Amino acid sequence: MKSHARVVVIGGGVVGASVLYHLARHGWTDVMLLERDELTSGSTWHAAGGMHTVNGDPNVAKLQKYTIELYKEIEELSGQATGVHITGGVLLAATEARMDWLRGVVAKGRYLGLDLEEISAQEAAELMPLLDPKQFVGAVRNSEDGHLDPSGVTHAYAKAARKLGAEVHRFTKVEDIVRREDGMWRVITGKGEVVAEHVVNAGGLWAREVGRMVGLELPVLAMEHMYLITEDMPEVAEWNAKTGSEIIHAIDFDGELYLRQERGGMLMGTYEKAAKPWSEYQTPWNFGHELLEPDIDRIAPSLEVGFRHFPAFQKTGIKQIINGPFTFAPDGNPLVGPVRGLPGFWVACGVMAGFSQGGGVGLALANWMIDGDPGADIWAMDVARYGDWASMAYTNAKVRENYSRRFSIGFPNEELPAGRPLKTTPIYDLLSAKGAQWGVAYGLEVPLWYAPRGARDKFSWRRSTDFEHVANEAQTVRERVGLMEISSFAKYRVTGKGARDWLDRMLACKLPAPGRMALAPMLKEDGKLIGDFTVANLTDDADRSSSQDWMIFGSGIAEQNHMRWFEKHLPGEGSVNVDARGLSLVGLAIAGPTARKLLETVTRADVSNAAFPFMAIRRMDIGMAPCLVGRVSYTGDLGYEIWMAPEYQRHVFERLMSAGEEFSIGLFGSRALNALRLEKNYGSWAREYRPIYGPLEAGLDRFVAYGKEADFVGKAAALAEREQGGRLRLRSFVVDAVDADVIGDEAIWFEGAVRGWVTSGGYAHHSRKSVAMGYVPREIAEAETGFEIELLGRRLPARIQAMPLFDANFERMRG
Ligand SMILES: Cc1cc2nc3c(=O)[nH]c(=O)nc-3n(C[C@H](O)[C@H](O)[C@H](O)COP(=O)(O)OP(=O)(O)OC[C@H]3O[C@@H](n4cnc5c(N)ncnc54)[C@H](O)[C@@H]3O)c2cc1C
Repeated sequence: MKSHARVVVIGGGVVGASVLYHLARHGWTDVMLLERDELTSGSTWHAAGGMHTVNGDPNVAKLQKYTIELYKEIEELSGQATGVHITGGVLLAATEARMDWLRGVVAKGRYLGLDLEEISAQEAAELMPLLDPKQFVGAVRNSEDGHLDPSGVTHAYAKAARKLGAEVHRFTKVEDIVRREDGMWRVITGKGEVVAEHVVNAGGLWAREVGRMVGLELPVLAMEHMYLITEDMPEVAEWNAKTGSEIIHAIDFDGELYLRQERGGMLMGTYEKAAKPWSEYQTPWNFGHELLEPDIDRIAPSLEVGFRHFPAFQKTGIKQIINGPFTFAPDGNPLVGPVRGLPGFWVACGVMAGFSQGGGVGLALANWMIDGDPGADIWAMDVARYGDWASMAYTNAKVRENYSRRFSIGFPNEELPAGRPLKTTPIYDLLSAKGAQWGVAYGLEVPLWYAPRGARDKFSWRRSTDFEHVANEAQTVRERVGLMEISSFAKYRVTGKGARDWLDRMLACKLPAPGRMALAPMLKEDGKLIGDFTVANLTDDADRSSSQDWMIFGSGIAEQNHMRWFEKHLPGEGSVNVDARGLSLVGLAIAGPTARKLLETVTRADVSNAAFPFMAIRRMDIGMAPCLVGRVSYTGDLGYEIWMAPEYQRHVFERLMSAGEEFSIGLFGSRALNALRLEKNYGSWAREYRPIYGPLEAGLDRFVAYGKEADFVGKAAALAEREQGGRLRLRSFVVDAVDADVIGDEAIWFEGAVRGWVTSGGYAHHSRKSVAMGYVPREIAEAETGFEIELLGRRLPARIQAMPLFDANFERMRG
């Protein structure tokens, strides 16, 4: 074993092998994989080997499609059979709600290029002869499902990587990882030491233990998982003889089952409700090629449904039950990427569907390591979507919930209860008493809407019980004044004598003068968006050089992500400090035509339009509490964002609420905010603004200071985008919706073909219009007619709404 390597990949499961292959394929051949045992010695060897293109997140679905298409390539390159059988499959719905969900999957699949088609239950039975069509209301046919040989695939990756120059060392356990002063990693094994520039944790079942070697507690947990294999079945033999092909895959969501042919019988697996974690605190190092004791009682309720839905199983014997562990992150998506605070340490773990996702994970990670960018929108699998709050106990609660709901319908208005409440602000109980219905963002409880006594969300794809109440909240803002808790925003304080120059380089906007704020897109080197902020200049003008003081406000869910980016770009000499304020700074927003009158009654500061205009920011007392107040509002109305230390939040809240009585103040939550921002055509981070869109495409070019002196990150690429015009355009649409509104990821049709996708939407209550925002190719972005948006299986006419539906001239906001 050599003593130095550019990259050491720890773990020879399907994921580590894929990472190794992709690094070598993309030109990094000084790479080495270390495996403590034989390859596949974690969860890989006992996997059922199924693969699917469908995923709740369209970007993960794209990577799944990539993975499945890759097998031919690695088979050819390695000469190792992967055992891939593309059989196709059916996704089955036993209820109308499930069928609505499947229609959404089909609509999404259209713009992803997936071959999905809605079919009847009878048609499904003609494709998959074991199912009883009377048990289902409909289905979707998917031509790309299939299965493979897990060991063959892993070895094919490894052999192909070796052919390209990579090394694979089996029976080489990594005992410890130590960072050297020069930033290189010492990877200490039982067979000696390797010094590496980069280390990849692909430790699968032991990813936590490998993380702990560098002081990292990763939010992953293994769950027991069972599938059974039947004796040979005459129905299977008959079908094989009659058609010359295998029985296709089936996913029976309502039975929580997946099925496929296994030799002359069938394989049936289940994600049972009584989910059971395995090795909750520590994975034993001596675990490897053994299986866990099957527990048929635990899966009996699912099997009962299975035997009813697929009657042939009633007459057949069970040959074997496999019970094995595999890992999950709290939301079920992989954890991939560079770890904040540990330059050169990467993770590729928590991959629960290694044979659908392993290729995409390997590709994204290799791109990221080599080019500095994953090359795809992998927001849903970025390890930085979690912060320290994703503790072991939180992860345990969430993973159990996620496992037991793996095949459940996730309704758009459904909030999952496990692991909550975890983070709350000081006014949590006050807002709860007012009927707050809580959602969660980055672990923090956020009010979604306020329910009168007894009202609750009824989970649905259609407009629900909250509709009229959210409408009232929106009207409160548009007609009087509303108050919203906004502590979930991310807030960063940037100080130090180099702060101004650094911000000028990091942000693409013109920096604001002291006492002012500016909208601030942040770009990557390729000119695509990596942030969308408001930057505030709090520097005292008189003393500019020594005490720079700036704030950045942005999306709370991206805090870890953005801190990783900021820290990567900080100058080494310590002239700039960035501090994520988290909940050490909490906030309240007031908005509406009487917001200024209300503010005047609670402060002695001059907040007249002349003294405190739109985009001004200033410290002032609210009641008795020292606050930072910015005149800005995402509602698009006259409004203020008020920031304070948490110990003052109750005081400020109570002052505003009691002073607000005179103006008939009301509370509003994030659902009303969504309705308000949609009628202003305002996009939001992680929806409209994501790292695959350029500022011109996203309509943020008006905030980019193309001509500023500073050579901001992404400047050359942004200029090129402006020159060439970009490929896409973000547009707002008014949709002829009836009883349901888009939520995101629906297909946008133009003149009979799918040309774009929805990023978000909803009902704009004040304007009384159903609104969608989404991207379409620039060639059709000015078309006045011809658009339709697919919602719940129907194509609804839609029209571009170029001007905001509310306050198109910005008079309310600036007045
Ligand atoms: C019963 C069952 C059925 C499944 N069915 C499917 C399916 O149909 N389709 C699908 O896509 N997925 C399925 N899975 C999930 C699939 O197995 C996992 O997604 C996949 O195996 C994850 O691979 P991995 O490489 O991340 O982890 P692992 O397979 O756990 O690999 C990690 C490797 O790292 C090595 N390692 C760890 N620590 C060290 C160290 N310190 N030094 C050196 N080596 C180390 C381990 O020995 C191991 O070989 C199933 C899982 C189970 C349990």
